[in-house]
Amino acid sequence: MAMLNAKGANLTASGSGKRTITPEMVAAACRKLTRHVHLYALRKFTLDESVNGELFTLNRYEVRRRARRENWHKASPHVIDRFADLVLTQAVITRHCKKCRGAKMNSNGAACKRCSGSGGGEDLSLRARARAIGISHQAYRSTWINREIELAREFDYFDRLIDKTIKREIFGE
Ligand SMILES: [Zn+2]
Repeated sequence: MAMLNAKGANLTASGSGKRTITPEMVAAACRKLTRHVHLYALRKFTLDESVNGELFTLNRYEVRRRARRENWHKASPHVIDRFADLVLTQAVITRHCKKCRGAKMNSNGAACKRCSGSGGGEDLSLRARARAIGISHQAYRSTWINREIELAREFDYFDRLIDKTIKREIFGE
């Protein structure tokens, strides 16, 4: 059973210390949320990769709708899809420090210097993000970074909503 591995939401903060929450508990707690949020919760907090197909497809659909609504001039559907995948991936996957691989310490047990003992890795550079979606670094910096911030903000909202829902449904808070 996978332990909760939350990057954004602090699901273990409630009650007495750490508790294991099973995927079934998360699925049951989140059943009334929208399908998008529900699948996102399963992928991020129970590490269930079997939902990837439906989650990424639904997310592309939502981001295409956003592109139409906000009139993203000249953005090709292909670029929009890759952008949707990139931002979602950044939101659901915890990046580990390359030096300690998330262990937070070196082989002597001292805090890893590279990540200052957090275990977390660095985000992709702007250049790498631009390459991932197939546009120029310049275009990412001038236009797409703001779209990314907006979309990431929505995923932050998902995190808070899921956190609140799980605390209420599972811990009765
Ligand atoms: Zn490290």
